[in-house]
Amino acid sequence: MDADTRRAWLDIDLGALVHNARTMAARAGKPLLPMIKADAYGLGAVAVARALESLDVWGFGIAAVREGESLRAAGIRRPILVFTSLLPSEFGEVRRLGLTPTFGDPVAIQGWVASGGGDWHLAIDTGMSRSGVPWREIGSLSALVAAHPPAGAFTHFHSAERNDGSMQLQQERFRDAVAALGGTIPLLHAENSPGIERQSPSPWSLARPGVFLYGVGGEEGSAVRPAPVVSLRARVVEVRTIEAGDSVSYSATYHATERRRIATLACGYADGYRRALGNRGVALVRGRRATVAGVVTMDMTMVDVTAVPCEVGDVATLIGGDGDELLDVNAVARLAEMSPYELLVGLRLRVPRRYAGGDA
Ligand SMILES: *Cc1c(COP(=O)(O)O)cnc(C)c1O
Repeated sequence: MDADTRRAWLDIDLGALVHNARTMAARAGKPLLPMIKADAYGLGAVAVARALESLDVWGFGIAAVREGESLRAAGIRRPILVFTSLLPSEFGEVRRLGLTPTFGDPVAIQGWVASGGGDWHLAIDTGMSRSGVPWREIGSLSALVAAHPPAGAFTHFHSAERNDGSMQLQQERFRDAVAALGGTIPLLHAENSPGIERQSPSPWSLARPGVFLYGVGGEEGSAVRPAPVVSLRARVVEVRTIEAGDSVSYSATYHATERRRIATLACGYADGYRRALGNRGVALVRGRRATVAGVVTMDMTMVDVTAVPCEVGDVATLIGGDGDELLDVNAVARLAEMSPYELLVGLRLRVPRRYAGGDA
């Protein structure tokens, strides 16, 4: 696709992605099990997996069997762990694709073994109350685990980004649960990105970064910062002058108090530029900041360019860098008062992805 004909697109810097993975690997001091679920948080799981394979990662983490299917079809051969609770009806597909399931439920483990078995990892719930065997009930699995030992065991932190002691508590519970099973499980893993930011080196065998790889993290107090990976760009498709008293967009939430110049960008909430950014978001146009005027619509967003000389065809940056200015995912999410994870994952809707800095 010719960049000039695009209305809106994502620029994805695979070199920055690999740089961020190196940062995570250096901090953990252990092999990485990068999380590439949800199409690598919207960046494209196959391109991301190929780029990360250059770092000799241990394997990959996903959430749905379908995600594993496209990775295998693209020739990704490393271990792929499925981190959601599987239904028995999925076992055949999981085995056929050579994926590694994760279980914490005795009925599911027995079903897996009875249907043919194969490598699996034990999920231990140490406080998230989402999936896995609750650490208090680990004894109930002793016999089953002894008869059918898992290749690995893991837990997941609920608040690793906070300095509230919860991560330490969850790690103690995890350590105790693993010890109660005899302490012979070969692979142990626990940290997500904020966990890796917070403790170095990792006390476990593998580390599971997600969002940091994609350029989100490194908030105040963190030892490391990710390089930005994703930029959302949109073309200016109209420019108009409005007069005092005129309004902009649905519900007329923006009123001009004097003559203003308004540019229309070919990007809206159907492209993942969230409605919460109405009258708050900022675009970079010709290296200058232009504020969103009125509510974001499904396909178009208006920005105030009174102070910015711009014309139809110019490229506006809604997330990411332009010149010396940077609107990183964290900053835009803060403006929208939403989770940076949700903002990032929402960018997958209609925009094509353009990759640079890798061979994907
Ligand atoms: C998503 C996920 C991660 C990665 O979390 P980030 O905060 O994005 O680094 C790690 N482990 C599990 C089980 C996950 O579901």
